[in-house]
Amino acid sequence: MPLNICLQCSHPFQALRPTARFCSNACKQKAYRTRHRVPPFAGHCLHCGIILFCPRTNQKFCSNKCRQAEYRHNKKDDHPEA
Ligand SMILES: [Zn+2]
Ligand SMILES: [Zn+2]
Repeated sequence: MPLNICLQCSHPFQALRPTARFCSNACKQKAYRTRHRVPPFAGHCLHCGIILFCPRTNQKFCSNKCRQAEYRHNKKDDHPEA
């Protein structure tokens, strides 16, 4: 019988089924909880409106691209580019 590698603790274990991915129910539940842990909701990107999941609650944009786009948009009237 082949040994499988537990996806949670990385220990080899004797798999009862070839599809088994975890050495125990404890590892299975731990992996499940980790995978489904919901990150803190931080808001929406002020430019594209995508939902931001980030521990930094003061984050306003999903990416530098959006931040720069919004910055340019806001500054367009004050400082027109040449
Ligand atoms: Zn395990
Ligand atoms: Zn965005």
